[in-house]
Amino acid sequence: MKTYWQNYIEGAWVDGGAGRIDIANPGTGEKLAEQALADVADVDRAVMAAQRVHQSGALADLRPVERGRMVQAMGRYLLENKDEIARVLTMEQGKPLWEAVIEIEGAARYFEYYGNQAETVEGRSIPLGKGYFDFTTYEPFGVSAQIIPWNYPVEMTARSLSAALATGNACVIKTPELTPLSNAWFAHAAEAVGLPKGAVNILCGLGRDAGAALAAHPQVNQIVFTGSVPTGIAIATAAAQNVVPCVLELGGKSAAIVHDDADLAAFENDIRWGIYFNAGQVCSAMSRVIVHDSVHDELVERMVGVAQSLSVKPGIEQPQFGATMGAMVSEAQRDRAADMISAAQAQGAQVATGGRKMNIPGAFLEPTILTDVTPDMTIANEEVFGPVLSVLKFSNDAEALKIANGTPYGLVGGVFTRDLDRATTAARQLRAGQVFVNEWYAGGVETPFGGYGKSGYGREKGREALWNYVQTKNVAIKLKG
Ligand code: NAD
Repeated sequence: MKTYWQNYIEGAWVDGGAGRIDIANPGTGEKLAEQALADVADVDRAVMAAQRVHQSGALADLRPVERGRMVQAMGRYLLENKDEIARVLTMEQGKPLWEAVIEIEGAARYFEYYGNQAETVEGRSIPLGKGYFDFTTYEPFGVSAQIIPWNYPVEMTARSLSAALATGNACVIKTPELTPLSNAWFAHAAEAVGLPKGAVNILCGLGRDAGAALAAHPQVNQIVFTGSVPTGIAIATAAAQNVVPCVLELGGKSAAIVHDDADLAAFENDIRWGIYFNAGQVCSAMSRVIVHDSVHDELVERMVGVAQSLSVKPGIEQPQFGATMGAMVSEAQRDRAADMISAAQAQGAQVATGGRKMNIPGAFLEPTILTDVTPDMTIANEEVFGPVLSVLKFSNDAEALKIANGTPYGLVGGVFTRDLDRATTAARQLRAGQVFVNEWYAGGVETPFGGYGKSGYGREKGREALWNYVQTKNVAIKLKG
């Protein structure tokens, strides 16, 4: 493994004006490598390089199918290198190696999907009567700035980069301080498929320095941010100053409502994926289960069984798909989650299983289930971003929906029942951008994703996401005679 990783600006690997940052392996607690840190001048160079690519037309003026082919080829490049990328991703992020492979495959899928969509961004003709011919076209914004979180660094970059390139934007990616290394393969992929130098720039820097400079840069034309609410507010404020659009994908406190007629055995699988995948560090994690009184005890017993079945160890020792969980991204994140568990206990929650930091090197937390959680508790409202599930009870449908909708967030929600009327009513009434019926995470790259309320605005994934990266131009032609 390389010990020093540089930034990538205008087709060259470069040092950072702000020096270097140590990258740790959360599976061992040891230093893994050093990463170049960009300063404000580096950000400026990257943005200006991207702006030159845009102005040159080297991307924007291509026939869309040609851009689409390059975008698809980037996905294939990731798949060809997935074993190497997955090892680096696991070592910097902590997730099991098999989960890292799934992340690379998921990233590649975005390039396949949006590569295929490139030539479908068509305008329309609007009838204005005999004297005019009118049509609309969609043009790329120009420079797309994308600020990435640490939990899925490869997949999150893939999600925005693929759609932005497919629609003809040049991009500047600001990678997260904790997990910047695996993003290097996007630069390799851009080179391998022949994108112009400066079309893809990738730099790591501190959020408050490089991130803030990128969000506020006057030559950035559009911003995509995935991360926490306070940072989202800072970025939206910077975007407003320059009057550029931004997409905000923020956090969540998403709830599954489990009715008395739900298939409780099947729900074990939803627990497995919903709260323990990536050690719960998923914005759309199923962090609350709201269960009917009459099946509460049976469901808790099943969920505790799932939590206790997980073998928790360094991700690099977990090549095979199975009942395993890795480290959290850092000891600071792990300690924050452990503190939230203690605070919940002080407010009256019970630990049904887990709850403790593990006595091994690295950032490990036991898979945890908290019962006797009530809607007023902090743990029922604030995002833990760890393997911690809160269980609440309800006695009628209206109460369940009230609890589910009772936080400022609104990213996703789920309802588990065999009753179609109940499921449909809940789907209508859940205040969330995506509703899962009888399977948490049902959907895919094809389905739009994004938040209501404090979970953000704009949509990623699906055809909806394409419209983030283009602006509509209307052309009205006055005809003679
Ligand atoms: P964060 O907001 O601290 O950081 C995200 C990114 O923003 C990082 O690259 C960081 O360097 C940068 N940043 C920080 N301050 C900045 C500033 N002032 N200006 C510009 N950039 C700045 O979030 P995080 O801790 O990396 O990620 C965890 C959070 O992200 C959780 O709240 C989680 O729910 C959310 N998240 C949401 C999604 C989604 O799709 N909705 C996906 C992943 C994570």
